[in-house]
Formats: sequence, structure tokens, C-alpha cells
Amino acid sequence: MTIAKQPVSLLKEVDQFDSAKAGSQLHRFATDLYPICRSITGDGLRQTLTRIQQRLPLQISEVPSGTAVFDWTVPKEWNIRDAYIKDPSGKKVVDFQRSNLHVLNYSTPVRATLPLSELKQHLFTLPDHPDWIPYRTSYYKEAWGFCLSHNQMLALAEGNYEVCIDSSLEDGHLTYGECYLPGHSSDEVLISTHACHPSLANDNLSGLTVATALAELLARRDLRYSYRFLFIPGTIGAITWLARNRDNVGRIRHGLVLTGIGDAGGFHYKKSRRGDAEIDQAAAHVLRHQDASSQVLDFSPYGYDERQYCSPGFNLPVGCLMRSVWGTFPEYHTSADNLEFVHPRQLASSLRACAAILDVLENNCRYKNLYPYGEPQLGKRNLYRSSGGEAIGAETNARLWVLNFSDGAHSLLDIAERSGLPFSTVNDAAALLFESGLLAEASDEEIAPTRDSGAAQVEPAPVRRQRGATSGD
Ligand SMILES: [Zn+2]
Repeated sequence: MTIAKQPVSLLKEVDQFDSAKAGSQLHRFATDLYPICRSITGDGLRQTLTRIQQRLPLQISEVPSGTAVFDWTVPKEWNIRDAYIKDPSGKKVVDFQRSNLHVLNYSTPVRATLPLSELKQHLFTLPDHPDWIPYRTSYYKEAWGFCLSHNQMLALAEGNYEVCIDSSLEDGHLTYGECYLPGHSSDEVLISTHACHPSLANDNLSGLTVATALAELLARRDLRYSYRFLFIPGTIGAITWLARNRDNVGRIRHGLVLTGIGDAGGFHYKKSRRGDAEIDQAAAHVLRHQDASSQVLDFSPYGYDERQYCSPGFNLPVGCLMRSVWGTFPEYHTSADNLEFVHPRQLASSLRACAAILDVLENNCRYKNLYPYGEPQLGKRNLYRSSGGEAIGAETNARLWVLNFSDGAHSLLDIAERSGLPFSTVNDAAALLFESGLLAEASDEEIAPTRDSGAAQVEPAPVRRQRGATSGD
């Protein structure tokens, strides 16, 4: 006798958690990482990866400065210990120890005394938000500078100022972290998040914390796909990883960049460059059912690391999941993107959305109805349930949809889309029908290329989980 395996349902597991507790755990991890001065290289990035490594099997790679990666070169490594500006009376008026945003990220070292007019050429402020500190970087052009609130700058009196940036910019390494979770297939799902921003909560820490929790959720599970989580510096990290893994990226069947998923805004999913990848269909489906205010955006070549994964030479099926879109909210790249700007509830619901999307990928199979001539008699199998005054129960409805469209050509996701039912309902129906002997998994030959008009073209996945197979586990 074969024993049906439970299909992977991360969503059900997430829904068993106390979501307030899960949200506060996510927020606590963001709080732990918040003070670290991260950059695209250096000890802040390493320290962040080490913290993630305490929770995940994270392989940390170090790539030497000067390494050519496609059209780029791995830059010198930047580290910083301290920085300040002292006013003419010797009082510290800008202090890196109070906020790491005060230093232009990647500033070259400097020790000087200079008049206010000269100092001002190295100061960055936000006149429109005079109490906020901007976040500025100068990775690829050597420069030094300070960022401060506009009001702080207005308060500076004429005179000579002592500036100190105790940093180093020397040959070293670019660091990134990679967590690989093997599944039945060597085909991979890529989850990528940038880890290079200093004390900014939504822009980088929300993605880091949700990705870490997602990897914990997947670890030690019986998975259809293998999963690769990348915690990398933005742009140069993705380019470096791609350059070092050029020959293996064909394994990536689906991918998601996670970023900016802790604020109070509704979800935005930016499609892959392909626009019709299975991840695009899955993410749009899940968000439509989870958040009525969610929006799906077409691909554009500006944004986060999907730019690199979707560069024309790779054109990988990688989309980007966000809440508020970068650059569209005033807190973006300022000190107001802080721990109050991200909410435990939103972090928890972002984790839930990711779990639901991965559930679709894990379970999106094509089946064949073994009784396609007329409807099979569900009643004699105790599968035709109607309750209350309803003529047809929601579960029965889902079973009829699955039976009718399980012709090898339609995936469960196609059926969910066509029926308007959530994928989880359709998937549960398919599991029951399979156990009842009414469905078989479609063979590759049966997976016909004919599609519904409007349905996304989805390549058949090469390995399906053996639902119903006996197994040793
Ligand atoms: Zn950013």
C-alpha cells in the first residue's frame, strides 16, 4: 500500500504560528542587525552574515578586491571605526557613534581642519525633511563626506571645523553569504536579498530578516526544488555571484528578490524580464488572494538585483517582491527608514506571502484525470460533500475544477487562476483526488503545449514530487 505524503504547505505552518509573536521575532532580528554599519564590503557586512550564520547553514565567500566580474571590478574593502565633526569650540556636532548614516558610505579617511564654507562642500542634507539624515554612498568614486539633518547644518556657525573619518579603503575582499537547501531536484529556487545598507530598516533589513526566517522554514523539509538563498551586497554582489556561477544559473527555475517588505504599504510584485515566468504567475496569484491592494508591475531595468539576474545575457525568471516601491516614499534612503518604519505585522505577513508563493512552486503540478468520460461519481467515494443550504460545497467545487482541467495541459495554478479559487484550495483538492485514485501525475509526454489564452506559458518542471510514492522518510 502506498502512503500519500503530505504536500509541502509552508502556509499552513506559518498560519499555525502566533502571527504577533512571529512578527515580533522578525522585528527583533532587524533590531539586532540595525546598529551595524554595513557596506558593500567590510566587517559590518561580515558581522551581519555571521549573525545569519548562527541561524542558517550559510556559506560565506570572500572575493578579493581587483577580481574582474564581467564589466566590473571587485572594489577595495571599506572599514570604518569612527567619524566626527567638531565645531570651533571643540564640541562634536556630528558623531558617527550616534548614527552610522552620518558618514558618506565608503568615505576615504580624512583628518583636517577647515572653514565652514569648505566643509559644506562635503555635507549632505535633505532640505525637504530637515530633521532626517540622508543615506549617501560613493562606492566607485573616492570621496569623503558627512550626512546630517538640514537643521543641524543650519545651526553650524562660521569658524574652523575639525573633521575626522577614521576609515580604511584598502585591498581586501567582497563578502557574500549563500545558504543552499537541497531538494529532490537539482533545479533551484533563488531567493536573493541585499545586505549592504547600514542602519536602514525597510531597505535591506526587512528582506534579510524575512529571507532568514523563510530559509529556516524550508530547512530540513522534503522539498521538490533545491533552494539557494543569497545575502549579498547590492549590484556588485549579484554581479560577482553571477560571474562566479555563470555555468550553473541554468538550474534556476524560479527566483525572487526580497526587499522593502516591512513597511505599511501594500505589496508590489515586479515581474521578471520574461514577464510570463511561473514565478510571475505564482506571485500575482498569491498577492491577489492575500492583499486586495497589491499591485503587479511590469519589469523595468531599474530597481534592485533583479536587474542583474534579468540582464539579457541571463534573463533568469526572477521577480522582485516589495511593499512600497523604492523611491516612492519619503523615508527611502533616510534615517526615517528606521525600526519604527517597519512593523512586526507587516514582516509577518510578508513571510506569509513568501510561504504561499513557494507553496505554489512546490506543488504546481499537472495531473491527468483517470476518469475523463463524464464526471467520476464522487458520492460513492465520499467526495461529494455539500453542507448547509449550499448546493455545492467550496471543497466539492474545487474538486470538480481539478477533475475537469486535469488534462495534462493545465497546471494546478492554471486551474486556480481559471476557477478564481486560491491555489491552496485547489492543491488540497488535488491531493485528495490523487489519494482517491482519480488523478495521476501527467507524464512529460502528456504535458501538452496547448494553453488557455491568457494563461502564462510555463515550462514543465523536470522533476515532480512523487505524491503518493512510498518513501523511506
Ligand atoms: Zn537602497
